[in-house]
Amino acid sequence: MLLITASRRKRLRRQPFPPDWERILDHGVPLYDLLPAADREELKGHIQVFLAEKQFEGAGGLAMTDRIRVTIAAQACLLLLHRETDYYPGLSSIVVYPDEYLAPFEEMDEAGVVTTGTDRRSGESWEQGTLVLSWQDVQMAGVDGEGAYNVVLHEFAHQLDAEDGITDGTPFFPRRAAEKHWLRTLEAAYGRFKEEAGRGRTHVLDPYGAESPAEFFAVATEAFFENPRGLKEHHLDLYEELGRYYRQDPASWPAIISNGGES
Ligand SMILES: [Zn+2]
Repeated sequence: MLLITASRRKRLRRQPFPPDWERILDHGVPLYDLLPAADREELKGHIQVFLAEKQFEGAGGLAMTDRIRVTIAAQACLLLLHRETDYYPGLSSIVVYPDEYLAPFEEMDEAGVVTTGTDRRSGESWEQGTLVLSWQDVQMAGVDGEGAYNVVLHEFAHQLDAEDGITDGTPFFPRRAAEKHWLRTLEAAYGRFKEEAGRGRTHVLDPYGAESPAEFFAVATEAFFENPRGLKEHHLDLYEELGRYYRQDPASWPAIISNGGES
């Protein structure tokens, strides 16, 4: 990282945090309320860097607001706490639609037959520069009591996954031994999960995670923060591995109270 970038970021992190943004965090980001006090301060610093460096763009008629920007930035930066970070260096812009949006797709099967069409999406992460989100879906994070839905965490996990140049379910590790440990644990957990999904009996994790190791990492990241006790109970090795990577222990945070129950 360039020295000038490092000192600019340091300055940004130290700026006073706008009270309007603080209110947005308090009322619109349930995970923020659960964080230990020191983590909240660290997060607010990261949010200021993130918002200074990334472009936000409304699409499909959505007018961009601070509420949208701060809500997304807070959850994106939650994945960066306690680690040396370059703030998603491959990402320059976040495009936000009011609701699920239609996106064209083109798929080739093993026989080389190409199918084209459109499908409805709540979010997507491109390897080059852009991440897309549905604001309606962003606001659904943590609302479902037993589930672990968080489209922001999901798409930003894909960004972390892509940092080493390939989106394959393994993010960048500065140390080879840590990467090997991750590979062993995730491969075993993914294998078990695919079997469970095949039998139609999954716990905590969205069955969509059985699609590929990359989707498994993304849905596991959602569960790690949105239903940490459930993940720890049903997938302990996976919970502990994610804890080493994210350097956090969300199962030790107070429980989210939503819909009158504990999630
Ligand atoms: Zn995904």
